[in-house]
Amino acid sequence: MSAPLTPRQALQRRAQALDAAAQGVPDAIRIAAVADLPTRFGDFCIVAFHDPLDTSGREHVALVHGLVEGVQDVPVRLHSECLTGDALGSLRCDCRDQLEAALRLLSSGPCGALLYLRQEGRGIGLANKIKAYALQDTGLDTVDANLRLGFRDDERSYTTAARMLRALGVGSVRVLTNNPNKIKQLQDNGVIVSGRLPHALPPTAHNRDYLRTKQHRSGHLLDVPDDEP
Ligand SMILES: [Zn+2]
Repeated sequence: MSAPLTPRQALQRRAQALDAAAQGVPDAIRIAAVADLPTRFGDFCIVAFHDPLDTSGREHVALVHGLVEGVQDVPVRLHSECLTGDALGSLRCDCRDQLEAALRLLSSGPCGALLYLRQEGRGIGLANKIKAYALQDTGLDTVDANLRLGFRDDERSYTTAARMLRALGVGSVRVLTNNPNKIKQLQDNGVIVSGRLPHALPPTAHNRDYLRTKQHRSGHLLDVPDDEP
């Protein structure tokens, strides 16, 4: 009997199968590259994709722990890029805390995947997000600041995320989220969602109002206490 495939070997085999299936299918999403990625939060493989239908030019990646192809109930987190939070440690939002908690949780089980989606500032881009911060500094909340700039509250799309999950070949997913819209968009794009895993972290003095706005104005399933701790 041959040795079982490592997660990296399984993903490389999946990439080859997608390449073969994509012959004559110009719109097909492909896996562009796979490598091991040990992190301070746990062991992952990093997977880069090429999606001809995503014309944004953004390079999205998946961090995959364990074997996910054909597996049911794979825990999945869709994380949208937040340069100020994820990389620079901003306390204006909870993005980095959510990212770190998700990576720790996903790597602690048999399998899981985090999609790191390059849609900064809820899809409005970095400079516009900073403009929105400037408006928030004058008293607007995060929703009204986006509206003032001519954007919707949330411009993010999870169409490419759904195609990435289908490219990985997951059987069904349990989505780590407080945002019902993420689940709906995945289902609308052909992903079988078998459940939701709540992903709420304790608020801090800096992000309490931001989290309250998410809860009361953006439909997130949060329970931020109204009183200061
Ligand atoms: Zn953020």
